[in-house]
Amino acid sequence: MIYTKEEFAKRLSELSDKAGLTDLTSPACDKLYTICEQLDLKSKQFNLTAITEPEEVLKKHIIDCLFAAKTVGEMAGEGKKLLDVGSGAGFPSLPIAAVLPELFVNAMDSTAKKCTYMNDTASLAGIDNFNAKSARAEEAARGEMRASYDFVSARAVASLNVLMELCTPFLKVGGYFVSMKGAAADEEMKEAESAAKKLGCTFIEKRQYNLPDLDDARFLLIYRKDSKTPEAYPRNFSQISKKPL
Ligand code: SAM
Repeated sequence: MIYTKEEFAKRLSELSDKAGLTDLTSPACDKLYTICEQLDLKSKQFNLTAITEPEEVLKKHIIDCLFAAKTVGEMAGEGKKLLDVGSGAGFPSLPIAAVLPELFVNAMDSTAKKCTYMNDTASLAGIDNFNAKSARAEEAARGEMRASYDFVSARAVASLNVLMELCTPFLKVGGYFVSMKGAAADEEMKEAESAAKKLGCTFIEKRQYNLPDLDDARFLLIYRKDSKTPEAYPRNFSQISKKPL
């Protein structure tokens, strides 16, 4: 970790300004610092992320996830719950929990050691509105977590048509699915039209944003769940991936 806590806060504030994001509170900034520090210390041990250079971590992990947090924050009132599917090293779940302390955030990943890493990091950072659970989404969505979240997020887990079947069964009716996508967003949305229909979801908005100093456009795709997920979904993973809805 090249930055001291003070340098980190200054650089984060500069990059947030550049990105058009509002300034963070000092406790939120401290929590984000610990997230980056832990990633730096444990990335190799836990095989967490290819992005390790501190400035890149700030832009491609932290600022990227702050855009998702801003969108969720605008829609969430008190006492709401978010599930991040395929959270890996805690993106976007940990930054979202760090800056939205009123929101309760669950992270899910099929790799148990990544969940251990996320829970340890949250605890060290004082992020107490967070818990990571090791499970496969398509299995967990058939249990008590089904239909119990106000928001479900996902970044870099699967193509949108596959992702919708993995994620939207967790939503309550009226809840929102927020998918973080790159350049192929339009194409993926087209491919996912039939999945959205079968899963009772309505497309609400595509929000475009750019990371500071980087040209490639990024998108937040927002869908609302308007009716109960049919009992048949999610199917098992080989069916979901071989024959997306
Ligand atoms: N979301 C993180 C990010 O953007 O940095 C991690 C992305 S990583 C490429 C994809 C993660 O999704 C992996 O950690 C993998 O274990 C997890 N994953 C893939 N399929 C899953 C499933 N069906 N249920 C739960 N986790 C899954």
